[in-house]
Amino acid sequence: MAALCRGRYRWKRINCFHVLTRNLTGKYDFDLVVVGGGSGGLACSKEAAQLGLKVAVLDYVEPSAKGTKWGLGGTCVNVGCIPKKLMHQAALLGTAVKDAKKYGWQISGPVCHDWVTMAEAVQNHVRSLNWGHRVQLQDKKVKYLNMNGSLLDQHTVKGLSKAGKETILTARNIVVTTGGRPRYPTNIPGAVEHGLTSDDIFWLKKSPGKTLVVGASYVALECAGFLTGVGMDTTVMVRSIALRGFDQQMAGLVTDYMEAYGTKFAWRSVPKRVDKLSSGALQVTWVDSLTGNEQKDTFDSVLWAVGRAPETKALGLDKLGVQLNKQTGKIVVGADESSSVPNIYAFGDIGEDRPELTPTAIKAGKLLARRLAGHSTELMNYDNVATTVFTPLEYGCVGLSEEEAEMRHGKDGIEVYHAFYKPLEFTVAERDASQCYLKVVCERAGDQKILGLHFTGPNAGEVTQGFALGFQCGATYSHLLQTVGIHPTCAEELTKVHITKRSGLDAMVTGC
Ligand code: FAD
Ligand code: NAP
Repeated sequence: MAALCRGRYRWKRINCFHVLTRNLTGKYDFDLVVVGGGSGGLACSKEAAQLGLKVAVLDYVEPSAKGTKWGLGGTCVNVGCIPKKLMHQAALLGTAVKDAKKYGWQISGPVCHDWVTMAEAVQNHVRSLNWGHRVQLQDKKVKYLNMNGSLLDQHTVKGLSKAGKETILTARNIVVTTGGRPRYPTNIPGAVEHGLTSDDIFWLKKSPGKTLVVGASYVALECAGFLTGVGMDTTVMVRSIALRGFDQQMAGLVTDYMEAYGTKFAWRSVPKRVDKLSSGALQVTWVDSLTGNEQKDTFDSVLWAVGRAPETKALGLDKLGVQLNKQTGKIVVGADESSSVPNIYAFGDIGEDRPELTPTAIKAGKLLARRLAGHSTELMNYDNVATTVFTPLEYGCVGLSEEEAEMRHGKDGIEVYHAFYKPLEFTVAERDASQCYLKVVCERAGDQKILGLHFTGPNAGEVTQGFALGFQCGATYSHLLQTVGIHPTCAEELTKVHITKRSGLDAMVTGC
């Protein structure tokens, strides 16, 4: 069925035609139309097409306030996980170069980092991923439209191209996976005018220079970490605590390591205004909330990492009665990712109460596609999703924080096994390992089921991923002890942990 049209008048005619057709035949242009081609939307559309459904996906990037734009693939590919992890790697290599001398590498002269070389290489890789996604959609016979989607009714999506061309698509089911975008603070003069967000940092053509990062969660600490690592003078402005929601002992180790690594922290500080000086430098005024004193400093860049917000307004969801959470603006969804309106589904970052992580969006998308295709009834399990913060000292965890476990089970209801360990690779390099730590939070009674597992150290993501399987299988402390370690690794320390916090004994690992 032809659904392409240009002017508003023609669109209305075609829209009426669709409504008529649908009522008569019960048929639609597509079995599934997905609005948003990010991690979740692409996974869902490809899986559905593979299972025989006729699928279209719309993806459209509204440029950032600074004018940054990018290609197909969503946040993770373009302005999230991928460029972030590559820049984190650039920073880790800087540390490795320092270690290398101790290991006998003869490196003459100062070792400098060139932002432009790194940024170009990262951006080229991202572009190759954009291309790869387009090819995959084509191979899997998913129709891709580079259009801004909005919903006209529970079976009809309107696509609007950059040039203003409208396309109407009807579908048996519609999936909304439009993710979120970084927020700017609302009441700080100069914030938008002079500030960057994570939508810009990975696409800068030149080095950001001396940078103030405002915020203290995943995005702020990860960005501040790689900026410090590649040689930028970097300050993190924290208004309350770091890594809210994470185990706070672990959060403290992460920020302690960063401070030792060279990142500066302005604790308990709230920005007030950003002014551009005639020199071009940005003067930031902030208030130290402990003393109430106002302070000023100048920076080359200010990066706002103060959270993300969904773009639900332009989707037309309110007119259709799709229930949104008034505070967050996210779509209220059921366990099967259904919204409050039949045939409209949502998941990923746009879904209320969903983890804002790529693997959960991908898995939820695949499972939803299988259910919509009638191939399965399996629901996504959002419990106990493992995660890693890619700070200079990485932090991986799965399950409950110690605070949360204590709240649920009582202080006497849990046993915490912990260890401070020294990664072997730190020894010859003479690196300080004070923040390399792990803890396993268990139920105290019975088999001592593991409630939470936390690890700071090199390759924390790789370490945590393996243990997440055990966790998913209901591992207990004795399972952990029955597991024979791989020597010499950091991960093996988890299989040997035996000192309880309650005992007050020294948790420092000595010897093999
Ligand atoms: P997105 O990937 O955001 O995709 C939504 C897509 O829809 C976008 O392309 C958007 O432009 C498009 N869109 C929006 N509105 C419309 C519309 N009306 N019509 C058409 N298209 C539209 N997660 C991890 O698991 N690991 C990490 O290491 C990690 N690092 C991150 C680092 C940063 C700096 C950030 C910001 C995020 C990071 N995340 C990480 C989170 C991860 O990127 C997101 O959870 C994930 O991308 C969410 O996928 P999604 O499909 O819900 O949305
Ligand atoms: P976030 O987790 O919502 O954290 C926002 C941070 O900004 C908090 O530290 C908050 O402080 C602070 N903040 C908010 N408003 C502020 C203001 N006006 N002034 C000063 N500080 C302010 O947001 P995020 O870091 O952008 O992360 C978003 C999501 O992306 C995460 O939940 C995560 O799921 C995903 N992500 C994942 C990874 C990964 O997997 N490695 C990496 C990056 C992002 P308070 O605590 O005081 O509120």
